[in-house]
Amino acid sequence: PKKVLIQTETRDELQGMTVTFNHMIDRLRENIEKQNQFVSDASHELKTPLTVIRSYSNLLRRRGIKNEEITLDAIDTIYAEATKMQKMIETLLDLASVEKEQTLDMKQTDLVLIFEQIVKQLQQVYKRELVLHYDQTPIMIEVDELKMKQVLIILLDNAIKYSTDKIEVTVEKEQEDVIIKVKDYGIGIPKEDLAHIFERFYRVDKARSRATGGTGLGLSIAQTIVRQHKGEIFIKSEEEQGTEVVIHLPISSTN
Ligand code: ADP
Repeated sequence: PKKVLIQTETRDELQGMTVTFNHMIDRLRENIEKQNQFVSDASHELKTPLTVIRSYSNLLRRRGIKNEEITLDAIDTIYAEATKMQKMIETLLDLASVEKEQTLDMKQTDLVLIFEQIVKQLQQVYKRELVLHYDQTPIMIEVDELKMKQVLIILLDNAIKYSTDKIEVTVEKEQEDVIIKVKDYGIGIPKEDLAHIFERFYRVDKARSRATGGTGLGLSIAQTIVRQHKGEIFIKSEEEQGTEVVIHLPISSTN
C-alpha cells in the first residue's frame, strides 16, 4: 500500500477538525440524553394518574354497583385524575410548540400596555390584588407579544398559587434592557430547590404542587421563551418570605 505523507499544516487542520467533530458528537449525545430523560419523565408523569384511573375503574367494576359511596368516590377520583392528565398533555403540547417555533413574531410592543391587560384580567378571575408598577409609559420593546404574555401569565399563575397576599409586577427600563419583576409574599422556595426550579417537571413539593394543579413545566416554558428573546430569567426566593422572578430583556433583539 502507498504511504500518504501528510504535511504538518494539514495534520494540524485535521486535528482541529477532529476536536470540533468530537465536540459536536458530545453535544449531540447530550441532546439525545436530555430527550430520553424528557420522554421518560413525561411518561412517568402521565402514568401516575393513569394508574389511579385504572385501579378505581377496577374498584368500580367489582364493588361499585352495590355500594353507592364507593361509586361516587371512584367517579370523582377518576374525573379529577383525567383532568390532571388533560392539563398535563395541554402543557406538554404547549412546550413542544414553544420549542418548535423558533421563529418569533417580533414587533415593537408597549409592555406596560400588554401587562396591564393581563394584570386586569387575572385580577378579575382570581379576585387577588395584583399591582403593576412602571417607571415610564410606554415602554417599547421588540418582542413576540403572545409569547411575552404567556411568560407573564405563567409567573402570575405561580405567584397566585403559592401566595395569598398582594402580588407586584414591575416593568422598568435600564439602559439597553427592560427589567420585568414578578414578586409575591408567599411560601417561597427552599434554597436546595432553587437551582432546579427551571428544570422540566421539577416541583418543590409534589404533593403541594399537585394539589394546586402544577405540572412543573411552567417555569421551563417561561425560560425557553425568554432565551428565545436573548434575555435572561432569574429567581430569588426566601422560604415564608416570598419569591421574585426577574427577567432581563434586550430592547432590540439584534443587540
Ligand atoms: P408548576 O406548574 O408546578 O407551578 P413551574 O415550573 O411553574 O411548575 O414551577 C416549578 C415549581 O417551582 C412549582 O411546583 C413550585 O414548587 C415552585 N414555584 C414556582 N413559582 C413559585 C412561587 N412564586 N412561589 C413558591 N414556589 C414556586
